[in-house]
Amino acid sequence: MSEYKIETKCVQGGYTPGNGEPRQIPIIQSTTFKYSTSEDMGKLFDLEASGYFYSRLQNPTCDYVAAKITEMEGGAAGMLTSSGQAANFFAMFNIAGCGDHIVASTSIYGGTFNLLSVTMTKMGIETTFVDPDASEEEISAAFRPNTKLLFGETIANPALTVLDIEKFAKVAHAHGVPLVVDNTFPTPVGCRPIEWGADIVTHSTTKYMDGHGSAIGGAIVDSGRFDWNAHAEKFPGLTTPDESYHGIVYTEKFGLEGAFITKCTAQLMRDFGCTQSPQSAYLLNLGLESLHVRMPRHCENAQAVAEFLNAHPKVDYVNYCGLPGDKYHALARKYLPNGSCGVVSFGVKGGRAAAETFMKHLKLAAIETHVADARTCCLNPATSTHRQMTDEQLIAAGVPAELVRMSCGLESKEDLIADIAQALDAI
Ligand SMILES: *Cc1c(COP(=O)(O)O)cnc(C)c1O
Repeated sequence: MSEYKIETKCVQGGYTPGNGEPRQIPIIQSTTFKYSTSEDMGKLFDLEASGYFYSRLQNPTCDYVAAKITEMEGGAAGMLTSSGQAANFFAMFNIAGCGDHIVASTSIYGGTFNLLSVTMTKMGIETTFVDPDASEEEISAAFRPNTKLLFGETIANPALTVLDIEKFAKVAHAHGVPLVVDNTFPTPVGCRPIEWGADIVTHSTTKYMDGHGSAIGGAIVDSGRFDWNAHAEKFPGLTTPDESYHGIVYTEKFGLEGAFITKCTAQLMRDFGCTQSPQSAYLLNLGLESLHVRMPRHCENAQAVAEFLNAHPKVDYVNYCGLPGDKYHALARKYLPNGSCGVVSFGVKGGRAAAETFMKHLKLAAIETHVADARTCCLNPATSTHRQMTDEQLIAAGVPAELVRMSCGLESKEDLIADIAQALDAI
């Protein structure tokens, strides 16, 4: 499939049925798989043969869909997880353990920020956060001898900053560690971070990939290009024997292409069990089949909404990298030439009260803690997700009281703009 364009991979990647086999990816709704001899099954447990024995580790439906996402990202191997949170945790915990250190962009999803700053800190993994717009020297200064990876988001949720992937990759590689990029917002239709030097890509498939608000899920794709052996002392989990599998060495047995994902499946999926269900993987695949058709429409609607808001007297400011005046417009032209995403954020004049009045009067855009859905939705973080914060804290967190985040769906842009216009009139 690697020779095909992204549109073809969205539709046909990952699964090629043989003669008389189902045309659509079958839902293999089975926890377990049958073997004739213990010897046959033993080979699977020793990682001597590949195959299925228990769906906590691997299931064919999930593997077909993971293979599609891997092809779409241009990676070497991939896996599905139960959520985007699980994907980011696994991608990082697969190479960073107690006593290790991570450098991450400050401009990331709130759930990932908590994962790093609270939960992984309790596990003995420290994170230093860096401004994504900082210079190479400033980002470099955050590294320590025990740093194991650099992390960022292509388009950050909800800040909508655009990551300079090449800059981040250069710094990570200069320190002998991989760059992990959460590519949830643009999807591989808009940007393929591996082409710009990222080593591992993660997704919350809950967002545009599913696209219909139907199933929580995540994915991890490994480029297979990071040379773990060249920095073997930093990554003993991949380059020294795993006693829980009779002393195999992942990089020796599975090569650079297979080591990361095999270890992640064999150890982390085995022990944490953050498995995506075959039903969810099936729904995810339906979303992927139309992703390349839906993304341009999300972007077109968001661009029209952003332009309308930008020219409106009751709107103070608009964040959308598709606007020529946006701080991230130049980076977006480089990394996201075909459009960024459907999410726009803006401030209404009149603060929190004006934002509340505006949202109350919207008819099409529902108030939801969700983005990247076929249906337009919006959120005022100050009165919902961040309501425990004072106005000063909200400003420091980059979500001032008047900020509204709007995820533009697939409706008519004229209808969306008319809805926004009447709600602004109500302020
Ligand atoms: C939503 C989101 C996540 C978390 O994904 P879940 O599927 O909700 O667990 C991670 N990263 C980004 C950028 C997200 O938008």
